Amino acid sequence: MPCEVQPRFLVLYGSQKGQAQSIAEGIVEEAQDHGLVAELSCLNQTEKFNLEKENAPVVFIVSTTGDGEPPDNALQFVKHMKKKTLSTDHYKHLRYTLLALGDTNYANFCNCGKTIERRLQELGAEQFYNTGYADDGVGLEVVVDPWLEGLWKAIKEALSKMASDRIALLKEDAGSSSKETPDSYTPNVQLNLLSLSDQQDCHIVRASADTDSKYATADSIPASATQTAISDLSCDPTAGIPVSVPQTIATANASISALDTQTEYAGDPQAASLSRSLPPLSESSLNVPALPPPYLDVSLQDVDTVEQNIGRLNNESLIEVPIHRAVQLTRGDSVKTAVLLELDISAHPEMFFEPGDSFDVFCPNRATEVEAMLHRLGLQDKRNHRVHVSLKKETKKKGAQVPSYIPQNISLLYLFTWCLEIRSVPKKAFLRALVEHTGDSVQRRRLQELCSKQGAADYNLHVRDLSLSVLELLTVFPSCSPPLRLLIEHLPKLQPRPYSAASSRLKHPGKLHFVFNVVEFPACYGRPAGKRGLCTGWLFDLINRGLVFPGKAECSDSLALPTIHVSLRSNCSFRPPSDLSVPFIMIGPGTGVAPFIGFLQQREKERQEKPEAVFGETWLFFGCRHRDRDYLFREELEGFLCSGVLNHLKVCFSRDEPEQEEEQVTASAARPRYVQHILLRNGRYVTDILLKQSGYLYVCGDAKNMAKDVNDTLIEIIKAELRVDQFEAMKTLAGLREEKRYLQDIWG
Ligand code: FAD
Repeated sequence: MPCEVQPRFLVLYGSQKGQAQSIAEGIVEEAQDHGLVAELSCLNQTEKFNLEKENAPVVFIVSTTGDGEPPDNALQFVKHMKKKTLSTDHYKHLRYTLLALGDTNYANFCNCGKTIERRLQELGAEQFYNTGYADDGVGLEVVVDPWLEGLWKAIKEALSKMASDRIALLKEDAGSSSKETPDSYTPNVQLNLLSLSDQQDCHIVRASADTDSKYATADSIPASATQTAISDLSCDPTAGIPVSVPQTIATANASISALDTQTEYAGDPQAASLSRSLPPLSESSLNVPALPPPYLDVSLQDVDTVEQNIGRLNNESLIEVPIHRAVQLTRGDSVKTAVLLELDISAHPEMFFEPGDSFDVFCPNRATEVEAMLHRLGLQDKRNHRVHVSLKKETKKKGAQVPSYIPQNISLLYLFTWCLEIRSVPKKAFLRALVEHTGDSVQRRRLQELCSKQGAADYNLHVRDLSLSVLELLTVFPSCSPPLRLLIEHLPKLQPRPYSAASSRLKHPGKLHFVFNVVEFPACYGRPAGKRGLCTGWLFDLINRGLVFPGKAECSDSLALPTIHVSLRSNCSFRPPSDLSVPFIMIGPGTGVAPFIGFLQQREKERQEKPEAVFGETWLFFGCRHRDRDYLFREELEGFLCSGVLNHLKVCFSRDEPEQEEEQVTASAARPRYVQHILLRNGRYVTDILLKQSGYLYVCGDAKNMAKDVNDTLIEIIKAELRVDQFEAMKTLAGLREEKRYLQDIWG
């Protein structure tokens, strides 16, 4: 019997939060359907691949993190390929494509992907399929889905072109006995092109015509076949490509009415909602993603003792510190509540932080939500059972592993409290998997819609933009009963939350301050009561009793504040200039002012210790809604200004009416509401400091709007002050960033 040897390609990923990895894994899983073999490696597993000799197409999936940095597991690779000693034909043999993941809310969009791509080209590699730049700010799938759809054809064409090039090379070589065939090329010509003869143990996988795409449409299936198609799907969900067809409208509407009464926040019964779709989506054929193959076996065991404490989180740098003081910085009538926490780290000299550093706070999932989850899964009586997780034998998931963040010998309660981000927004693959465990056909159809290509806008509107958790989703889909295994397979690791240090050790020895805004999620369909952010809500509940207000006497209860678990993350570049004579500008509206309080406290001490030293000018741009309600650290900042620690304090209030005298000044110009407006007014000083005095500019706070607006304003300022065009101004700013004199510490 002849046996086909499938052509291979390589998939390399660099991933910080798992998104790039999961896309890479998806490609590898789907490869078989296309009659291809894909090899998967993380970019740091250099023992598993060798690009210097690679003669199959290479697909890079890379994300970007922090201030345009490569993910941790791509750092070494990027460093290696940036080496100046590599010659311009180093990767001449390489054919690649690249999918870059990023977020346009951050300035260096897709920077890691762009860096890898630039270097590949500089080193001679040839692109076989256009690069995709996916933006998490608007939804990765907008770019990822079509990019993946086109990938398969491109890989096949690349394989075929590479093979014919090699044959041509072989022929050329055969005709010229004096030439040597490159070792690395010869064997794989066979692998990629030929059918080897009779190999008993050779594994045959054929791609059938209708599995040529990740998606299968059901256009050809008549509406009357709906039930058959769906029940076929549940019989052997992993066997084929899932299909879905429109419900008959009458049936769908009847069941939808029933669904809508299941939550209080149903809104307009005629409008589309999480549970209800409208035409054309409700009548459309759907392209749903392939079902992710199950890969874990999970069992529960009734035992005497299991771990219930945080100690098992397996983080060596984790330390437990008492909260020493909690101060509410905003007035009661402020829109947002900002709180300063003072941690007592005197027993932990290893918590050696500098202004600009941030640290992680480890918070548990909310007990009420954990309980609700256990009830929803019907496991409330098993909360103290030991969870045993192992790899499913013969799973079809490539590179499957038991998640490393699930320790041995933990209880079910511990798993849901400390290990899994139970509030994470379910991804489309998760919704797809939930379909298989949903009894009601209308609910199944809606879940299919939400994970389908056609339902992308509905998914964004009703799930993603509302940060809907899986628990909230399940309240709207009562007939969905996922097994515990599915949650462990799809929920990501519970992440600690980083906060910027808001103090200097020099001013507050043995203490660490930080400031947080209590995040509020409004009520919506699926979440009738609204909720607070996980960590900020938890911290606020912890300290509520002992909370003090500035200027008011501290009550004795503050002594009873609890402990929390933290670990230091150091940031080597977001630091005040080491040369004290260099001027710097700080832009930090709202809680973004936090690290700058640390900068200024440090400067205050340095001025006391070195009275003879020359100190560069310091500027702070701060903004909030109201001068009297949420002007954080007002007294301290005004004190810095009086003492000369801070030379320029520029503030603006977005919701206050302008005062009399201000009104006159602003009569001819628009009133400055946000930091970028006051920055623009001081454009001349900004360019002078940055471009003539080699100064620094720091931005901290909201990544979604502020950081981008500030960036755009800096471009405007440079354009106006230097009289250059947009491109030149952008280049100048990029240069400052490269020199690490324009630095961001942003979140949101
Ligand atoms: P979650 O339950 O995780 O919900 C967060 C989600 O809420 C986000 O996905 C976002 O979509 C939304 N959201 C709405 N408003 C906000 C908001 N104001 N901030 C964040 N997310 C919001 N936060 C501070 O308050 N002070 C700091 O000094 C600070 N420093 C940080 C430093 C770094 C390096 C980073 C990466 C983040 C920092 N953050 C800071 C953000 C912080 O880590 C948390 O993301 C934030 O406190 C919300 O956590 P949560 O668990 O309460 O919210």
